[in-house]
Amino acid sequence: MSEEKIVRTAIVTGGSRGIGRAVCIALAKQGCNVVVNYCHGEAAAAETAALCKAEGANAVAVQADVASAADCKRLFDEAAAAFGRVDILVNNAGITRDNLILRMSEEDFDAVLNANLKGAFLCCKEAARRMVRQRYGRIVNLSSVVALRGNAGQANYAASKAGLLGLTKSLARELASRNVTVNAVAPGFIETDMTAALPEAVRTEMAKGIPLGRPGNPEDVANAVAFFAAEQSSYLTGQVLCADGGMAM
Ligand code: NAP
Repeated sequence: MSEEKIVRTAIVTGGSRGIGRAVCIALAKQGCNVVVNYCHGEAAAAETAALCKAEGANAVAVQADVASAADCKRLFDEAAAAFGRVDILVNNAGITRDNLILRMSEEDFDAVLNANLKGAFLCCKEAARRMVRQRYGRIVNLSSVVALRGNAGQANYAASKAGLLGLTKSLARELASRNVTVNAVAPGFIETDMTAALPEAVRTEMAKGIPLGRPGNPEDVANAVAFFAAEQSSYLTGQVLCADGGMAM
């Protein structure tokens, strides 16, 4: 008797643009159903979903602010309603509010920690409940090389991204016996809206510190995320993979 192959369902937070969009498309190419989460970019998320469908995948866009527990619950409920299960979670949603510590407001610190770290915690909690029950899951968290090296002007962001590594390794230990893997990808300097605002001189200086001699593109990071999400990566958990052109070694 041949077993029917289960089509895996992936939720990608912040899938409307940048790295998240590239991750959605990479997972669509792997044959996954894709839930494209977004916060404000409704039209952009619809475009990502259309790009996934062009790869032959099923895709829906779901609005949710990952910093809100109620929104995260609704995101997972809507994903389950659309596709029946959730097999892959990519915690990609992230923001920056850069400033030197003496000028960094408490509000900017909280906003970054809430979106980047608490958001991932809330989504991991929703995912873990379902993944433990089905004895299968893949969670991939988007950290950053600044989690490893720090970065002047990014105390809040670097703290959130370092926190994600602690979250990743702790959950990897908690969920391993249930066949749920938890890994992190740490991008370096990637060309997206997040880095577009940097002055040309800063960009040139940053590129000099990259052994491969160029900034990354969203697909460079998406390939690393898709690697952890792949069926074949079942023996990898608690790992951090730098997608950074050699920047942090
Ligand atoms: P981006 O272009 O600024 O896109 C950010 C995405 O996150 C958007 O889709 C945005 O959705 C979503 N988002 C933000 N706050 C959200 C919230 N509260 N709830 C749900 N979605 C939210 O960023 P990116 O450069 O692609 O970065 C993606 C991830 O990689 C982030 O975690 C970032 O920290 C990390 N990273 C990036 C770099 C880099 O060089 N670009 C380097 C290291 C790590 P809406 O537009 O719909 O609001």
